[in-house]
Amino acid sequence: MTSVTERVVIVGAGQAGGRAAEALRAAGYLGEILLFGEEPHEPYERPRLSKSLLLGEEPPAAASLHPRDWYAAHAVTLRTRTRVEAIAPKSRAVITADGQRVEYSKLLLCTGSRVRPLSGAPDGLAGVHYLRTLDESERLAAELTPGRRLIVIGGGFIGLEVASSALKRGATVTVVERQKTLLDRVLPAEIAARLASLHAAHGVSLRTGVPVARIQGNGAVKSVQLADGTELAADLVVIGIGVIPNTELAETAGAASSDGLVVDEQCRTSLEHVYAAGDVTNHYNPILERRVRLESWQNAQNQAIVAAHNIAGKTRPYSEVPWFWSDQLGTNIQMVGVAEPGMQIVWRGERVAFGLADGRLRLAVGFDAGGEIRVARRLIESRAQLSPQRLADGAVKLKDLLAEATCSASTP
Ligand SMILES: Cc1cc2nc3c(=O)[nH]c(=O)nc-3n(C[C@H](O)[C@H](O)[C@H](O)COP(=O)(O)OP(=O)(O)OC[C@H]3O[C@@H](n4cnc5c(N)ncnc54)[C@H](O)[C@@H]3O)c2cc1C
Repeated sequence: MTSVTERVVIVGAGQAGGRAAEALRAAGYLGEILLFGEEPHEPYERPRLSKSLLLGEEPPAAASLHPRDWYAAHAVTLRTRTRVEAIAPKSRAVITADGQRVEYSKLLLCTGSRVRPLSGAPDGLAGVHYLRTLDESERLAAELTPGRRLIVIGGGFIGLEVASSALKRGATVTVVERQKTLLDRVLPAEIAARLASLHAAHGVSLRTGVPVARIQGNGAVKSVQLADGTELAADLVVIGIGVIPNTELAETAGAASSDGLVVDEQCRTSLEHVYAAGDVTNHYNPILERRVRLESWQNAQNQAIVAAHNIAGKTRPYSEVPWFWSDQLGTNIQMVGVAEPGMQIVWRGERVAFGLADGRLRLAVGFDAGGEIRVARRLIESRAQLSPQRLADGAVKLKDLLAEATCSASTP
C-alpha cells in the first residue's frame, strides 16, 4: 500500500497529465497528487479545438477532461496558471515560476508540445493565428465569419481540419504547403493525394510545392506572398506547420532527449524517479520495432495511463499500434501504424489503403472505414507476412486474413 506521505508531481495539465492523475487513483495510489499546468484551464482534450469548437457546435466545456469538482473529489491538487521552471533531480524537487519549491517522490512530465513558429511571420498582426490551445481556438472561431478569405499555411492534419471547418463556416480557403504533397511527414504521397482530391472537390484551393515568402499587412493581415511571387489576398491566416516537443525543462535537468524525451517501456526517463508521457516522449514501439514520437490523442491517453500504473508500482509495458483519426469535410479518416519511406502501397477499393514493408502490414489508412481499420490494427499487431493481392481483394474478408495471421503466429 502507498504511504500517504508520498507525492506524485505531474507537470503539464493537458490530456496526458489529467488522465495520469485519474489513472493513479484508479491504480490505488493513495499519496498526494499535485498537477501543475501553465494554461488557465483545467485539463482538456485538443481534438475538438479544430472541429466542433471551431464550428461553434459545442461549448468549450465539452473539451474538459473531467467535471470541475472531480479534482477535489479525487484529492488531486490542480495548480493552473503555474509554470514549472526547473527540476532539481538530486533533491527530487520542482521549482515553479513564482519560486515555490515542491518535493516529489515521483515526477511525471506531461509537458506536451507547442506550435512551431513560422520564421519571419510578423508579431502582433491581427488576423494571424496558430491553433494549439482552447483560447486560440476561441479567438479563431470568433473571426471565422462567412465570406472571409482564409489562408492556411501548412497542409498537415491541423491545417486541413481548420480548412474543413472554415469552409463549413462560409470562408473561402486556400491551403499553402511547401512540400509537393499534403501531409508529407505522416502519409505516403499516393494516400495523401486522396485527401488533396477531397479538399479540391469541396472547393479548397491547394498550393503545394511552394513556400510562403511573407505575410503582409499593416495592423491587420492583408495578404500572403508565396516564394514564386504569387500574392494571395487574406483576411485571416492560420499557421499550422507542426509542433515542437516541450523537452527543455527535463533536458536542462539532464534527461536524455532525442526528438522527444527518451523513455523506456515503463515510461521512465533517464532521470531516476522521473517519468514522462504524451507528445513530449520518444519511445520504442516493440510492434513497429522502432522508436517513435507520436502526436496523438491515443498516445496522450494510453501512455499516461501506463506511466501512472508504473508509478503506482504495477509494472506495465506500453506497447500499442499507433492510431490517429481526423475529421475533414464530412469524412472520417483513421490511420493505424506509421508510414515508412519506400513502403508498398496497396488499395483495397476506394476507402482503404495499406502500407507494407518486408511483407508485413505497417500502415493502414481508412476513409469512412472504421471497421476495416479496427481489423487492420490487429493485422499490424500480428506482424504476420501478408499477401498484398489478398489485402487488395475486396472478396477476401480482412477478418479471415486476421484469423490466418493469428493462427500461423500460434503454430509452432
Ligand atoms: C487542434 C488540435 C486538434 C487535434 N486533433 C487530433 C485528432 O483529431 N486526433 C488525434 O489523435 N490527435 C489530435 N490532436 C493531438 C492531440 O491533441 C495531442 O497529441 C495531445 O493533446 C497531446 O497531449 P499531451 O497532454 O501530451 O500534451 P498537451 O496537450 O500539449 O498538454 C501539455 C500541457 O502542458 C503544459 N505545460 C508545458 N510545459 C509546462 C510547464 N513547464 N509547466 C506547466 N505546464 C506546462 C502546456 O501548457 C499544456 O497545457 C490534436 C491537437 C490539436 C492541437
